[in-house]
Amino acid sequence: MKITAIESYIVVAPDLREDATSSSQDNIVVVVYTDTGIFGVGETDTGPWIAKSVIESPGSHSMALGIKDLLIGEDPLETSALWHKMYVGTCMSTRRGAGMCAIGAIDMALWDIKGKALGQPVYKLLGGAYTDKIVPYASLQPHGDNVNQYRDSLIDWLKRAKAHGFQAAKLECTLGGPYAHTGLQGSDEEMTEIVTACREAVGKDFILMVDVQYLWRDAKSALRTIRHWENLDLFFLETPLLVDNLEGYAILSKEAPMRIAAGEWLNSRYEFLELMDDGLIDVAQPDVGRVGGLTEAMRVCHLAEDRGRLIVPHCWNSGIGISASAHLAIAIPHCPFIEYLPPDLTDSPLRTELADDGLTMTNGVLELPDKPGLGIELNFEALDKFRASEIIL
Ligand SMILES: [Mg+2]
Repeated sequence: MKITAIESYIVVAPDLREDATSSSQDNIVVVVYTDTGIFGVGETDTGPWIAKSVIESPGSHSMALGIKDLLIGEDPLETSALWHKMYVGTCMSTRRGAGMCAIGAIDMALWDIKGKALGQPVYKLLGGAYTDKIVPYASLQPHGDNVNQYRDSLIDWLKRAKAHGFQAAKLECTLGGPYAHTGLQGSDEEMTEIVTACREAVGKDFILMVDVQYLWRDAKSALRTIRHWENLDLFFLETPLLVDNLEGYAILSKEAPMRIAAGEWLNSRYEFLELMDDGLIDVAQPDVGRVGGLTEAMRVCHLAEDRGRLIVPHCWNSGIGISASAHLAIAIPHCPFIEYLPPDLTDSPLRTELADDGLTMTNGVLELPDKPGLGIELNFEALDKFRASEIIL
């Protein structure tokens, strides 16, 4: 079996807002074709034009090669060997960042091919199922022009998620910092009021997480507020500080009254090693596409398992990445939840239309997928419909 072609498609939601914080408004989808007629699909959540360049650029010398040139003619089943070839061949030009994201999209597609070629769902090839179900949590992104509207929208989302059968949800409660929703500003005390109102609205038997999206500049500012959140029984607090503030993460991981989660932006196992060993985080959140694909995500999962940490993968993209996250979650013993929003609870047309994730939610849990490969159905018409116009640099 040989790789014969690689196509990468940039898609953009028609109503894209540059001031909105959602990265689900654009995407790069890669399709890897083989000489058998089998093709694989992958995606990654980064600046799509940059990732496309990493894949399609011509190489200049042996450590700055284009991924497409590196892979044409290779056997797609050799996922680990090809991961290493891509990593070394782009080491000088990209190494991490968008380069690792591009490798992640391609690696995801190679696993899809492997599953289809062997007639097995990907999780079986990753080592097999540790569980008979996947527990999804709903990621809730509130709207509002002021703090009250923001709180009400979050409570409304929460009630809809619970009515949908979810057992767990994550509140994006971000009234400041680089990710403040459409620039909305509020105080830490108002955030405490919002999270408290959400807990009261949903009752004590529902699992809640909170994502403050890099809000605080230092650990002490964070502690000043989150030490009051102990009685709210949060499963984790996500990204309280910028992710390179490893010293701050170490302080919070020791002193916060809940688990600390981070890692959605990280590229490669090496960055997770720093976050786990120096930042001491409790919950590692690899995004399969960004971290370097399923090959690298599994390495991160094993490193976390060795250290007694949990995995809760980040996923805020289309059904392609969601499916990859689900296969990862099934094949490890320490993943209590995956980030998941069913198409009918999202307003992202890319999530709704680009691909069928092949997952079925019943009574708050997702059944194990049984189709070969990732089990997704790529909608080529939607790929065409949302395709961005080419940019010539
Ligand atoms: Mg987040």
